[in-house]
Amino acid sequence: MIPWREWSRGCVELIYPSRCYCCQSVFTRKGQVVCADCLARVHYLQSPLCSCCGREFPDSSGNDHLCGFCLRQPPVYGRAQGVVRYEDPVSHLLHRLKYTADTSTLPALAQVIKPFVHDLAQEFQPQNDRIVPVPLFPARLKKRGLNQSLLLARIFFPQAGDALLVDAMIRTRDTPPQTTLDGDARRKNLRAAFAVRYPAAVQGRRIFLVDDVFTTGTTVSECSRVLLAAGAVEICVVTVARVAG
Ligand SMILES: [Zn+2]
Ligand SMILES: [Zn+2]
Repeated sequence: MIPWREWSRGCVELIYPSRCYCCQSVFTRKGQVVCADCLARVHYLQSPLCSCCGREFPDSSGNDHLCGFCLRQPPVYGRAQGVVRYEDPVSHLLHRLKYTADTSTLPALAQVIKPFVHDLAQEFQPQNDRIVPVPLFPARLKKRGLNQSLLLARIFFPQAGDALLVDAMIRTRDTPPQTTLDGDARRKNLRAAFAVRYPAAVQGRRIFLVDDVFTTGTTVSECSRVLLAAGAVEICVVTVARVAG
């Protein structure tokens, strides 16, 4: 005889079948929110990568090493790690989260970054490390309804507890979106845009700085500069995606 609980669960799945969060196709694998076809389209960043900025190298053999850009001008952060290349379906999920406050994308993003979260947990030391999400300007936060970097920080570090510093760093100036600018304009746009409100919280700490996408690295570099000036000892940038190039 089929136990009542299993029977009722079966009925619920018949009426409300599980659908992939990316492509909406129906599938039955329990505990999964992204279907195998969509997962197969995700391009995970794999070695060889730049050991500092996380850039992919066109040649797919060999070990991680410094890229020409980092050799010429070492970034202010110690290391930047992305999980996947900024392409569909992940770019679509991040866009929905950021611009339409669609938090139903979070379980799908969590599934995509799960292998990386496991590795990060080995590295993260809650006694010494702190986690800082890239902040939004308050008016923008009000308009969007959420800070995607904070929500992603909670997925990257599920055991963070008090080590997640929600408002230690703030955005002091509203700035046009970086996507509308390039090069020098990006850097100028962010000048004096961030401040550390509670320096004691970051002093002497290694900081995991979390953002959704690493594009040119200007935003995380500016945040890193401000955090280091406030007394942080090392910055590790963590993003879900990285733009190729
Ligand atoms: Zn799918
Ligand atoms: Zn590099």
